[in-house]
Amino acid sequence: MKRYEKLFINGDWVEAHGKGFTTLVNPATEEAFAEVINADQDDLNRAVAAAKAAFTTWSQTTSDERAEYIRKLQKALEARKEELAVAMSQSMGCPIKWARIIQVNCVSAFAKFADRTKEMDVVKEVNNSLVVREPVGVCAFITPWNYPLYQLIGKVAPALAAGCTMVLKPASITPLQDIIFAECVKEIGLPAGVFNLITGKGGELGDALVTHPDVDMVSFTGSTNTGARIQRLAADTIKRVCLELGGKSPLIITEDAPLADAVRGGVRDVLINSGQTCVCQTRMLVPRSRYEEATVLAKKFVDEMPVGPTDSEETDIGPLSSMAQRETVLKYIQIGLDEGAKLVTGGLERPEGCEKGAYVKPTIFRDVNNKMTIAQEEIFGPVIAMIPYDTLEEAIEIANDSKYGLSSGVWAANKEEGLKIARRIRAGQCYVNGGDFNYDAPLGGYKQSGNGREWGDFGIHEFFEIKSIQL
Ligand code: NAP
Repeated sequence: MKRYEKLFINGDWVEAHGKGFTTLVNPATEEAFAEVINADQDDLNRAVAAAKAAFTTWSQTTSDERAEYIRKLQKALEARKEELAVAMSQSMGCPIKWARIIQVNCVSAFAKFADRTKEMDVVKEVNNSLVVREPVGVCAFITPWNYPLYQLIGKVAPALAAGCTMVLKPASITPLQDIIFAECVKEIGLPAGVFNLITGKGGELGDALVTHPDVDMVSFTGSTNTGARIQRLAADTIKRVCLELGGKSPLIITEDAPLADAVRGGVRDVLINSGQTCVCQTRMLVPRSRYEEATVLAKKFVDEMPVGPTDSEETDIGPLSSMAQRETVLKYIQIGLDEGAKLVTGGLERPEGCEKGAYVKPTIFRDVNNKMTIAQEEIFGPVIAMIPYDTLEEAIEIANDSKYGLSSGVWAANKEEGLKIARRIRAGQCYVNGGDFNYDAPLGGYKQSGNGREWGDFGIHEFFEIKSIQL
């Protein structure tokens, strides 16, 4: 079994002070395949000290210098794309054919932040003042396991562009792409201390990282519960806190939408990555007049997506990321049944041919009302709740009746109609008639889905301090 015993601190791989290891388990086979060192508080303090020392010089580099490093990093990552796809597929169960696309494509967005370094040069004259942008300082990044490379790039690339230094703590079950990234950092010779990686348990390292007096900003992606805790803990040192949290996003299908396209789009949106996509639209709102037809279509489209081994090029749907996540999802399916929702397809049994591993049958519930637990809570599994509605006003009300507001979707007769509805949904994103994900547009939540924005120009704005200089 491969052992990763070192941490990346101050530009080099160093012995850890922490002694324990996290065992990585392939959720498709339940087999352990690697062990990764758990940092302790001493390691964390070393990493923060390195980032603090590096900030003095890195924050004074020119935008061109930083852009050059970012472009080199992108090149180094491009060269390791297949290795990255395999690492993520092994550790969190994304089928390899999808890992190459949805988990790795984000590498192409890295170099866009090379151009965005120029954002730091913007100076605005206001009467006798110059208003300038400066980097916020030392950043602590905490990321989840569902799109682990995407989360890394969404934080690290804009922070580098802005002139910040950083300590990254990835999810303990998926640290491999972060380790590969640190190897790229070393290979291209990024100045020591700008990027530091500590692996280990969030429950053990989180509080110390978030309360550390030398950390200026925390950017966290993960569950709403952990995000709320981080915000409370960070309050004592008045850190900037950027939270990217959970979702329970709606998809409104209108009366005159192309129904087959809409249902197909909705089903695939959730089932790719086994429902472990923060922005996926797990509440499908369908006009009552088309409800029966929609449920038949939904089953048909689920049946077209093979569930199976992650290393097969045929597989569309892999396991959940861990056996623990499987238990959570099964618990929600049971709750759905107990609360009176009916199965269109799926349920509690294992998918055929998947006797081992964290597999759950792709599951579609019908006769769901929006007050049910499966319509209110984020399940983070391949589960869709089909909710009937009578009028468009009611559909918009249901869509907004959620503590979350991360994303949403609309399928309407045309884009213009879809856009009108999109503007009435309280969420940070809306996909109209199957619009594509856009790395140049911001992503972030309303309500309990968070308070930050990642990607696009807004992604770097999170890392500015604003100074006004009176002349
Ligand atoms: P999580 O349990 O909150 O964990 C996320 C990260 O926080 C992991 O690195 C975890 O470390 C760490 N952590 C755990 N306890 C901590 C603590 N007390 N203090 C500081 N850090 C701590 O979330 P998850 O279950 O991994 O991720 C799924 C969630 O992320 C879903 O709710 C999903 O919607 C959300 N998400 C949101 C977005 C977005 O852009 N809004 C994107 C992706 C995912 P360990 O791994 O060691 O526990």
